[in-house]
Amino acid sequence: MDNFEVVKKISKLIDYNSRSWNKEKIDRYLLKYDDKRIIECMTIVHLKDEIPIDLTIEISNMYNCIVGCRFCASGSLPETASFLTAEDYMKQVETCLAYSNENPKNYPNFYIAFTGIGEPSIVKEEVAKGINIIKKKYSNVQVNIATTAFDNTCFDYWDSINLSIRTLQLPYYSCDYNKLKYIIQNLPPNYDLTENITKAIKYKKNHKNCRVKVNFVVINDINSSKDEVSKMLNFLSKFKNDIIIKISFLNYTKKCLENNLSSPNNERMLEIVNQVKSKGFDCYLFGTKNNTKLGCGQLVQNYISKDI
Ligand code: SF4
Repeated sequence: MDNFEVVKKISKLIDYNSRSWNKEKIDRYLLKYDDKRIIECMTIVHLKDEIPIDLTIEISNMYNCIVGCRFCASGSLPETASFLTAEDYMKQVETCLAYSNENPKNYPNFYIAFTGIGEPSIVKEEVAKGINIIKKKYSNVQVNIATTAFDNTCFDYWDSINLSIRTLQLPYYSCDYNKLKYIIQNLPPNYDLTENITKAIKYKKNHKNCRVKVNFVVINDINSSKDEVSKMLNFLSKFKNDIIIKISFLNYTKKCLENNLSSPNNERMLEIVNQVKSKGFDCYLFGTKNNTKLGCGQLVQNYISKDI
C-alpha cells in the first residue's frame, strides 16, 4: 500500500488499573489506505502518578480480523481479510509518532504492541520481518504480542529465529469449547488452549526476558461466577509458576451492546482478583470500570456500513 491517511483520531487521558502504571494517555487513529480499507493504531503513554513509564505504539496486522471476537467490530468489515506487510507495520509506527508528536528517546521504555487489529500467529513470518525492520530504526524497542494462536506453530517459529519478545499474551474466556466458540466465532475445531500455553511457555523458557500472560477477559454470564473462576484456576494450575493472569474488564463497544456482553462491576472484579490470588497465582486487575470508548475496533465500528 502507498499511503496511510488519518481519517479520525480520539485522544484521552484516563485512569486505568494496571500493575506498574495507573493512567494512560491515548491517541487512537483510524487509518485509511488503498482508498477504502481502514485499520486502527494507537499511541499510548503509560503514567504512574503523572510520571511517564513508557511509550507504546499499538499496531494492526490485518484488515478485517479473521478471529471474529463477538465483542469486536474489526472482523465485520466489508471484503475478506487482507494481511498487512512488515513495511505497513513500520508506517503505522511512524504515523503514530508523527501525529502524536512523540519521540521514543524521551521515554525509559519503548514498546511495540501487536495488540491492534489482527491475529499475529497467522502472519508469523511477516511479524518477525516487521519487528526486525522496526528494530533497525529503534534499537531499544521491545515487543509485546497478543495472540489467539490460531496457528500455534508461531511460538516455535519465533523461537527458532531467536526473535526477542517481551510479552506473549493469550486470551482466556473459558475452558469449555462451546463457550469459547461463542466468544471467538471463528475458532478452529482443533483449537487447544493447553497446547498453546505450553508452547508459549516453551518459548519463554528459551528467552529469559519473556513473560507469558493469560488475559482473562471477565464477562457476565460467561465466566464471571465463582465456579467459573475455579474452573479456570484448575485448568491453569499446571502453568501456575510460568504465567501471569491479567484480569481484564471488557471494553464497551457497539458489538458488546448488541450481544449483551459486559464485565461485572468493580467490586466483583476485585473479588475475582482475590480468588485468583488465594490460589497462589500471580495476577493483577487490568482496565477500567468506566466506559472509555476505547475498545478494540472502537473507531472501525462506526465505518462498517459506511461507504468509506
Ligand atoms: S479483539 Fe482482536 S483478535 Fe478479536 S476480532 Fe478484534 S482485532 Fe481480532
